[in-house]
Amino acid sequence: MPSLKTPQAENLDSTTRVVSQSTARMQRAVLKLAFSFYGHSPDLDERLKRLGNLIKAGRKDGVVQSLIDEVVDLIVARESSGGGHEASAKLLADLIGKLSLEGELADEARAMQRRLQGSRSKDEFDRQVNDVVGLFNTLTRRGAAQTDSDGEPRESALFDNFLTELQVPPELDEAMEVVKQRIRRQRSQSMMLDCARDVARMLSERLREVPHTPAEPDSIAAAIALARSQLQAMVEQLVLPAPIAKETGRIKAQLDTAKTERDINTAVNSILDLLTQARGRSQQEVNELAAFLKAVTRRLEDFKSQVAKSNAIHDESISSTTIFQRMMSNQVADMRGWVDEETDITNLKLVMINQLESLEASVQTFVNSEQSRQTDARSQFEMMLSRLNELETETQRLRTDLDEQHTLSLLDPLTAVFNRMGYNEGMGREFARWKRYGGDLSLLIFDLDLFKSINDSYGHAAGDKVLASVAALLRKQIRHCDILCRLGGEEFAIILPETDVRGAAIVGEKLRASISGSQFRFKEQPVPVTVSIGAAQFRDPDTQDDVFERADRALYLAKKRGRNLCCTELELDDMPESSAMTVEPQVVDATPDVR
Ligand code: GH3
Ligand code: MG
Ligand code: MG
Repeated sequence: MPSLKTPQAENLDSTTRVVSQSTARMQRAVLKLAFSFYGHSPDLDERLKRLGNLIKAGRKDGVVQSLIDEVVDLIVARESSGGGHEASAKLLADLIGKLSLEGELADEARAMQRRLQGSRSKDEFDRQVNDVVGLFNTLTRRGAAQTDSDGEPRESALFDNFLTELQVPPELDEAMEVVKQRIRRQRSQSMMLDCARDVARMLSERLREVPHTPAEPDSIAAAIALARSQLQAMVEQLVLPAPIAKETGRIKAQLDTAKTERDINTAVNSILDLLTQARGRSQQEVNELAAFLKAVTRRLEDFKSQVAKSNAIHDESISSTTIFQRMMSNQVADMRGWVDEETDITNLKLVMINQLESLEASVQTFVNSEQSRQTDARSQFEMMLSRLNELETETQRLRTDLDEQHTLSLLDPLTAVFNRMGYNEGMGREFARWKRYGGDLSLLIFDLDLFKSINDSYGHAAGDKVLASVAALLRKQIRHCDILCRLGGEEFAIILPETDVRGAAIVGEKLRASISGSQFRFKEQPVPVTVSIGAAQFRDPDTQDDVFERADRALYLAKKRGRNLCCTELELDDMPESSAMTVEPQVVDATPDVR
């Protein structure tokens, strides 16, 4: 069909071309305007129907474009034949009126409508058509601005556009505004679906009202066509989970064949079902999320117990554990933050998995370092322990050695009685005790008589044997607490605790008699052995030397008096009590064998 192109038609044609080159959103707006002419003429109806089917089938090629051109031509031709530029201006004004615009754009559109309705000349009308093109371009730019940086429109922006394009009866304006506000606040798909369901319900209610309003058959058909195109647009804009997205195909088919208000209602109900399913699926996602978070919590518990175990192994790790726990708390706080903020389950899972992996790595590093630290510490401790054991053993051995050496150092090897050093130690101890606790303490000093002649007569070895035999004889006759010492050469001493000088004299006399009475023999020859003894007692303020000196003087006295005698200090001339004490010589049976 040849197209009749008036200047107005040329303008409209270029308008449509500009718009059709713009975004899909703008194209939908223009198509919606075009479809509002449904029912005006069979030619137009037929093309609009074909156009609708092509769009629904997803065709976006030149066939659609040329069909749009034809539709516009028909509209323009019809309007032109109906009454020149005035009719076209009225048509454009109506088209603009059907665009639900907001803010400045709405004001501009209203001014444009007024100018179109008042246009007097064809030139004026042409200028006004250019204004309309400008308005469309502005709408296009606004649509582009509402997309994200990656070019994909946000769900909320898409819905906003959809609702802006949607023509609702004035009584629903307020409700629609509430829905818009809600949509702007929503970030999750499930919440968006809730809003979409509300919109669908509103549409459904609106359609139910249609039969009750007396209307011309044409306007009913137009309303159904409008509802159908609006529902089509809505279904196209629904972003649904993959398993139920294919359902939209069935609904689109329902809408394609929808002729009556009942058909539209069926389609609306299908959309509602679909949204309910989508909502159910969102619930499923929520459950999935809950399970996922539960698993996360369980893993965190594992980490916590692992840390607690490490903590228990070594107290020293407390500080590093605290640092680690603080770090872990921060990471968990981050995770909570993500859970609160992120509503997309796939993103959330990715984030959580990354966080968990990072946590796990931190735990592993911590546990590894703790383990190696503890292993080091343990081996160090064990090494120290073994060295300590060695040291203790060594110390013990040394102490024993020292004790033995000390004991040995105090003993005379020939006679096995205390030596001079042993005498000093024993005397020092007993003197201290006497000074501290008082009581009696006496000293006997022995000197073998004419020992030089024994050596001379029997040999030095015989002399040694005599010395050992005398020591043994003395030792076996004294008390356990008495201290027998060889002071050197052929001199002996016995320290007698708790014994006064008289008791010491008795002991001395007994010992003297026992030695004197003993039959010492060397190589079958009798060896005559006698001792002279001096006895003295500690008296305040005596020193050790004072008592030794008096005992020695008493011994000298015994020598002086003829040997084989025991004299006491009491017999010394300078002693206050100079009553000489005579101890009768005793016959002793002991017969030590010096061989
Ligand atoms: P006195 O009765 O006056 O004490 O006469 P003495 O011969 O015992 O006195 P003196 O001090 O002159 O002689 C002591 C002798 O004892 C001298 C020394 O050869 C001897 N002697 C000292 N130590 C030992 C020893 O360990 N073994 C032997 N065999 N003889 C010793
Ligand atoms: Mg001597
Ligand atoms: Mg002597």
